[in-house]
Amino acid sequence: MKILVCISNVPDTTTKITFTDNNTQFNTNGVQFILNPYDEIALARAIELTDGGNGSVTVINVGEVNTEPTIRKALAIGATDAVRINAKPHDAWFVAFQVSQYIKANKFDLILTGRESIDYNGSKVAGMLGELLDLPSVSIIKKLEIAGGNATVEREIEGGKEVLTIPLPFVAGCAEGVAEPKIPNMRGIMSARTKSLSVIEPVEVKTFSDVISYETPAPRGQVKLVSADDPAKLVELLHTEARVI
Ligand SMILES: Cc1cc2nc3c(=O)[nH]c(=O)nc-3n(C[C@H](O)[C@H](O)[C@H](O)COP(=O)(O)OP(=O)(O)OC[C@H]3O[C@@H](n4cnc5c(N)ncnc54)[C@H](O)[C@@H]3O)c2cc1C
Repeated sequence: MKILVCISNVPDTTTKITFTDNNTQFNTNGVQFILNPYDEIALARAIELTDGGNGSVTVINVGEVNTEPTIRKALAIGATDAVRINAKPHDAWFVAFQVSQYIKANKFDLILTGRESIDYNGSKVAGMLGELLDLPSVSIIKKLEIAGGNATVEREIEGGKEVLTIPLPFVAGCAEGVAEPKIPNMRGIMSARTKSLSVIEPVEVKTFSDVISYETPAPRGQVKLVSADDPAKLVELLHTEARVI
């Protein structure tokens, strides 16, 4: 089985977010980038499904050369090979279109993404890929089993669970529960250096969105500590300052 896992290079969750160019560009200065955590889950399941020589796992990223450490990490975790489409990922449409062109030229049995990227949180790429490739696309899956050319997936729904069966190939956005993320071992780290990472140029595509500006949330107010012996003070503050009672 040939599996493609789409991977996104995202800022570490502890990053202090700032913007440049009149609040239109994310300031990447000093930012530590990581493999999107949901993509780690997708990758771990792909590795499990192809365990024991039962296929291959290719990871693909749309990004510039600075994403290569993240791609190498995916190779160290256990991907067979990697592809980087050499372009700044302008938006979800741009990413999905580039990846879809690669898939059209290189057939896969299963295409996995994360449920969302933890930076722009669009949850769009998997759905767009399905449409562009005319394939079924299932979002936010929590379990994935494959048997005899069909997949069984579980999705969480309000107050319950949905179980679906889907013929291969299809696209799925993976969430917690699909697999436990894998930590690269020393052998993986060493072999990642020599695994194939092909760089291909993007195709021309019309983009439809441009960012007008970004804004960070207003800073939170300071915390006031009230002595446990003084409930009247707490009531007064809730009334006069927080104005919630
Ligand atoms: C340097 C830089 C500049 C950017 N500039 C802009 C901008 O100007 N405007 C804007 O809207 N966005 C911008 N982005 C965000 C970028 O376009 C997003 O990564 C992409 O749009 C997907 O966003 P999403 O939140 O919709 O992804 P989602 O749909 O939430 O992602 C779901 C899954 O899709 C896959 N995926 C996402 N991104 C990639 C990728 N790059 N390569 C391969 N697979 C991927 C992953 O599996 C991910 O888990 C920028 C990102 C970077 C790194």
